[in-house]
Amino acid sequence: MIRSGVRTAIAIALVFSLTACEPEPVPPHIVVIVLDTVRADGVGVKLGEFPVTPVFDRLADEGTRFENAYAVAPWTLPSHATLFTGLAPSQHKAVHENFVLGPQYLTLAEFLKTRDYATHAVSSNPWVTKSRGLAQGFDSFEVAFGNVDEMTDKGAKRATDLAIAVLDEAASADRPFHLFVNYLEAHLPYAPPDEGFEAIRVDPASLERRVFSIAEAEAIMAGTREGTAEEFELARTLYLAEIAYQDRQLGRLIDALRERELLDQSLLVITADHGEELGRAGMTGHEFTLSDDVLSIPLVFRFPGRVPSGGRVALPVSHLDVVPTVLHAIDEWESAADLEGLSLLDTPSLTRERPLLAEYAEPVTLREEYWKNRHPDFDTSKWAVALRSLRKGDRKLLENSRGEITLIDKNRPAGASEADDQGRQIIARSMHEELSAWFDRLNRVDRQ
Ligand SMILES: [Zn+2]
Repeated sequence: MIRSGVRTAIAIALVFSLTACEPEPVPPHIVVIVLDTVRADGVGVKLGEFPVTPVFDRLADEGTRFENAYAVAPWTLPSHATLFTGLAPSQHKAVHENFVLGPQYLTLAEFLKTRDYATHAVSSNPWVTKSRGLAQGFDSFEVAFGNVDEMTDKGAKRATDLAIAVLDEAASADRPFHLFVNYLEAHLPYAPPDEGFEAIRVDPASLERRVFSIAEAEAIMAGTREGTAEEFELARTLYLAEIAYQDRQLGRLIDALRERELLDQSLLVITADHGEELGRAGMTGHEFTLSDDVLSIPLVFRFPGRVPSGGRVALPVSHLDVVPTVLHAIDEWESAADLEGLSLLDTPSLTRERPLLAEYAEPVTLREEYWKNRHPDFDTSKWAVALRSLRKGDRKLLENSRGEITLIDKNRPAGASEADDQGRQIIARSMHEELSAWFDRLNRVDRQ
C-alpha cells in the first residue's frame, strides 16, 4: 500500500462515518497464516491412504480454496513484503539487492492499527523479522525460531504456543485483532519429529535416514553430486512428514480460536510464501528460478457468511490479491484502489483470467559469497541473473536480465524452452510486450 493513497482513503472514510446513521458493524479479526515453503501439492494430498493435512483440508472445505494461486517471488523476504503491502517486489524493493522493507511502505498491520486493531505477529523465519522491516505495524512481534539443525525441531509447537498466548490476551480485549503467524517446518532441512512420522503412518526405521540436510540439498544444486530418484523420493516423504506435524500444530491454533469463539468472527487466510523444488531437473530449495514448483502455493480464505464454504476457484490468482481481499472484507475497499491486485471476494472480478507477474532480483553479494564459501566449484554465473515472468492461462513467459526469453506452455512441455515456430514466436513477442509494459508501469507508479 502507498501511504498517500491511504491518507486520502482515510479522509473519505471519515466523511462517510460522520454522515452514517446506522451503528458500525463490528469488523472481523484478521488471521493470516503463512505455511512457509509449502508448495501447492504439499497440502490436500495423501501419503498412502493417510491425508497429510487434515486440518488444512477441513479449513479449505469450510472456506474457499484457490486452486491455482501463485506467489510473486520465489523466496521469503519479497514474498512476505508483498503479503504485507500488496505491492509487487519491484515496488516494495525488499529483494536481493536490498534485503529490507523500507519504512515508507504502508503495511497491512500499520493500516489496521489506524482502525483500532491490536496487531500481533509470531515468526518462525529468521528472514521475517524487525531487522528486515517486516515488524512494521505490529504491537507485538514474537520470534519462534527453532534450531533448524536439530532433528527434533519444535518450531511449530513453539510458534503455536506463542500465538495462543496472543489469543488469550486478544479474547479479553474489546477490539478486533490481527494475528500473523509464520510456520517454518517445511523449510530445509527436512527433519520431522516423531509426531510427523506418526501423522502419516510412516515408520522412520523403514527409511534409509530421517533427515535431508541443507548441505545435501546444496551439494545437489551446486552439481557437486547428482541426486538420485530414490533420494528425492525420500526427501519428499520427509518434507510431507514435516508438513503433517505442522498441520497438527495448526490444528491446535484453530482449536484455540474456536474455543475462544473467535474463529467464526475471523477472516482466516492461509497460504505459503513460496513453494519448494523437490528434485525437478536436479533442483532443490527455492532459489534461482521462477518455476511453478516454487511459485504455486496454497491459498484459502475462511470467513463464514462472507466467503462461500466449499468454494473451489480454478482461475489463477496471485499474492497481490491478498491485501485487497482483506481490505474488502473489512469494508475498506477504497484503500486498495492503488494496488495491482483484486479482491477475491469480488466475484465479478473472478470471471475473467488475468495475466499474473512474478519476479526475482539477481541473487548478488551475500548469496554469491554464501555459495562460493561452501561450494567453490559451483558455477554461479548461470544463476547470476534477474528473472521476471508473465503468466497467461497455461502459458508463462520468462525473461532474464540477459534478455533471454523462454515461452513455457503447460500443454506443450516437450521442447517448450524456446519459441520454435512462427505461432509461438508471435505469442512470445506479444507476451513480452505485455510483460515489459507492466513492469514499466510499476516503475513509473513507484517514482510518482
Ligand atoms: Zn519462505
